[in-house]
Formats: sequence, C-alpha cells, structure tokens
Amino acid sequence: MELVHQGKVRDVYADGDDLILVASDRVSVFDVILPTPIPDKGRVLTALSLWWFDQLADLVPNHVVSATDVPVEFAGRAVRVRRLEMLKVEAIARGYLTGSGYAEYAATGQLCGIQLPAGLLDGAQLSEPLFTPTTKAPLGEHDEFIDFAEVEKTVGAETAGAVRDLTLAVYRRGAELAAERGIVVADTKVEFGHTPDGTLMLADEVLTPDSSRFWPADQWKPGGPHFSFDKQYVRDWAKGSGWDKTDPGPELPAEVVEVTRQRYVDVYERITGLTWA
Ligand code: ATP
Ligand code: MG
Repeated sequence: MELVHQGKVRDVYADGDDLILVASDRVSVFDVILPTPIPDKGRVLTALSLWWFDQLADLVPNHVVSATDVPVEFAGRAVRVRRLEMLKVEAIARGYLTGSGYAEYAATGQLCGIQLPAGLLDGAQLSEPLFTPTTKAPLGEHDEFIDFAEVEKTVGAETAGAVRDLTLAVYRRGAELAAERGIVVADTKVEFGHTPDGTLMLADEVLTPDSSRFWPADQWKPGGPHFSFDKQYVRDWAKGSGWDKTDPGPELPAEVVEVTRQRYVDVYERITGLTWA
C-alpha cells in the first residue's frame, strides 16, 4: 500500500478507493511529536473512535468501512475508511472554556468572533456549547481560531452550517453519554469530509483523549487545576520540563509514559464500560 500521508499520530495508506488509517503510539504536544511512544495508545484511540462512531451513527454518517479488513500487521490499530475530500477546517465544540480557547478569551474577551461574558475562569462551563472552529494548519504550524464567516468562505455557507450543527450535536451526545459515566467532555474536535457524491461524513477520529478534553466530573472546578484523562498530563509535564515547545520535543520519563498509558486505558474503560484487553 502507498503511504499517502503521515500525520502527527496516524499513518494513512491508500488501498483502492479506501484509505487505511493506522493510529500509531506517537504522542504530540503543542503540535510537536515527542520521541517517546505511549504503548497501546494507537489501539485505544482506534477502539474508542469505533465505539463512538457506532453511538453517533443515527446523528451523522461516518467514514468507516471496516475495522477488520485491514493488513494483519496493523490489526487493532487500523481502520479501513472511505477516502473523503476533507474540509480545511477543524470543527471544535466547547462546553467549557480552557486550553487555547481560554487563552484566546483571556487575551481578547472573545472566541471565534463570539463575545463572552467577562470574568470567566479557566474551566468555566459555558452557558451553552459553542462552535469554535480553527484553520487546519500544515504539520509544524499552529491552528488559528476563525469566525463562522471565515468557515463559510472556506467551505461554503451550506456546508458551514451543517458542520456547525453536526459538531454541536456530536458534542452534546458525547457529553451526555460521558456524563452518565462521571466524565465531563470539556471540548472536542472533529473533522468532516465529502464523498464524491457530496455526502458530508464524520471522518478521522471522534471523542478520543487526543481530540477531546475529558475530566472526572467529581473533580471539576472552575479555576482548576484540571485532572484530565487525556494528554494534558503530558502537556503539563512537557511545560514543566523547561522545553521551549519547538522540535525536537523531550524524551518522556518511564513514569510519565505509564501514567499516560493508564489514563488512555481508564477513559476507554469508563466511557465504553468495556474492559481493556
Ligand atoms: P495533520 O494530518 O494535519 O498533520 P494530524 O496530525 O491530526 O493532522 P493524524 O490524525 O495523525 O493527523 O492523521 C490523520 C489524517 O488523515 C488527517 O490529516 C485527517 O484529516 C486525514 N483523514 C482522516 N479521515 C480521512 C478520510 N476518511 N479521508 C481522507 N482523509 C482522512
Ligand atoms: Mg488528527
């Protein structure tokens, strides 16, 4: 198979009209791939995305063709998907204000052209979930917040509206289901693409610890600190290590690797109710 794309986490191969998305154990922070892999991460991301695609199937069609019809050496970490024309926007929904969204708000009082109330703390719940899209920057560059008009310019008004509505619907469904399991979905990022006949589909990964911030509900507190089941732990460690956020990133100590692996496995088990094997 031809390797058509190597993202920060996934290797993408072409197989006829399909793609094979292979999730590696690579971890990236601040858009830099770290030299140390997290064992099982690729398999957790793949299994959790597949589980969510099923849960969301009545809301939005998705790109999955088969989880089993993949080369045996990639079994468990790969999905056969329809090759889509991907939209050049990252579709983000936020129910809580944190991370880059909080930083933008703290600097400007708004986010994606939406004026927000003054005085919100890092981690504050928003009065309703917001669609906060960004550009999809090339490898090595950072995504930038854009307002809805910019999304319309990029993908057309009709697609922009559908993407916003579907992103918020995915967030709401995900947050509702996770809440039943004691998890807050602070925010999540999804990607959409078109089939050759123009059908808009949910693609890439969905509601994973790489694409979302998951917090234990019983520890959530505006102002933080936020315990999270995602790679925030690695981000915090990397920040504390004195690294300047440029390539190459630092090697992770064994303990950071193990704690991170455990968080990925924990959130998989909590959300799906299944045991990680
Ligand atoms: P980038 O690719 O910009 O570096 P990333 O690092 O997040 O972003 P990965 O998740 O590692 O990328 O790689 C997956 C890539 O495959 C993404 O570029 C994503 O847009 C693309 N992709 C996912 N699903 C599909 C699909 N069904 N058809 C075409 N491309 C897809
Ligand atoms: Mg990705």
